[in-house]
Amino acid sequence: MFLRIDKLQIELPRPAQADPESAGIVQELMGGKFGEMSTLMNYTYQSFNMRGKSKIRPYYDLVANIAAEEMGHIELVANTVNLLLDQVIEDSDGATPPLDVGAGTGNPDHLLNLGMGTIPGGAGGANWTGDYVFNSGNLKLDLLHNFFLESGARMGKIRVYEATQNPVAREMIGYLIVRGGVHQEAYAKALSDLSGVDVTKLLPVPEIDSNKFPDARKYMDRGFHRILYRFSPEDYRQIGEIWNGISAIDGTEREVDDGIPEGGEVPDLSPAPPLYAPNVDAGDIEEIAKRL
Ligand code: MN
Ligand code: MN
Repeated sequence: MFLRIDKLQIELPRPAQADPESAGIVQELMGGKFGEMSTLMNYTYQSFNMRGKSKIRPYYDLVANIAAEEMGHIELVANTVNLLLDQVIEDSDGATPPLDVGAGTGNPDHLLNLGMGTIPGGAGGANWTGDYVFNSGNLKLDLLHNFFLESGARMGKIRVYEATQNPVAREMIGYLIVRGGVHQEAYAKALSDLSGVDVTKLLPVPEIDSNKFPDARKYMDRGFHRILYRFSPEDYRQIGEIWNGISAIDGTEREVDDGIPEGGEVPDLSPAPPLYAPNVDAGDIEEIAKRL
């Protein structure tokens, strides 16, 4: 079962103004093929379906544990999209329609169907699908897939980071680049333990140091790339049998944190304003009222 904590994994800055274009791009990290819904659902189903759990306990613990962290990642992406859509109606300058869906680059569903909310889909408009889940039942194959998935996810985060300059989006992506790096390394380490082949030598994929991204570097400086959180009061204790030794990234000590990240507040967004037909003003209403 799951315990829910009403916090985000990090504190998100509040945007100076609406940015529906960036909201549309950031959707890729939610429901794109390599988005957070994919990592969440791949590890969740793999953990549900894993047979012989007692025989391969550290691997079960690892996959189940990372699934829990991914649940918090979809929450973080959703809150980022919603922050980027905040004030989108009030910020309209008259040059754009009041319901500015992003001049062709945003996602029209954000405003037309969702009342300023995140969709379970990617930037291209396609909805997330269970077809993105891979679960063969073969541990080595599933771990190889997960290493590949985290590598694709890292590519996606890096590209979305470069596709927006929005500080809210970049703060969130900087954190996810670092946390995704931990997952990529954890699956590489698990494969190394299982096979004797040092898969961590492939790191990082893509071959760009996370320190190159200022919003990721600050989380590296705070050691977030070394830590695997246990995300459970009592369980999943054997993740430390995999997540140990020396970081393949910078030679520091890997560490299991029995707690959760310090986290940040869930933004309390302004309600979506009701929308009126154009060219109706208070004076017109008064005139009509007088005639009745
Ligand atoms: Mn993630
Ligand atoms: Mn991940």
